[in-house]
Amino acid sequence: MEPKKEHKCLRCGYTWRSAKDKPAACPYCKSYKWNLKKEEEGK
Ligand SMILES: [Zn+2]
Repeated sequence: MEPKKEHKCLRCGYTWRSAKDKPAACPYCKSYKWNLKKEEEGK
């Protein structure tokens, strides 16, 4: 078993574990910019 990485969605605050380094989207809010703060979104 490979260790899973913990991720935290900066949009909704949801945390989950995934084997992927960078999940495509937050499984909770489905945001593809879950790892970006609002300021970094580029509006
Ligand atoms: Zn989220």
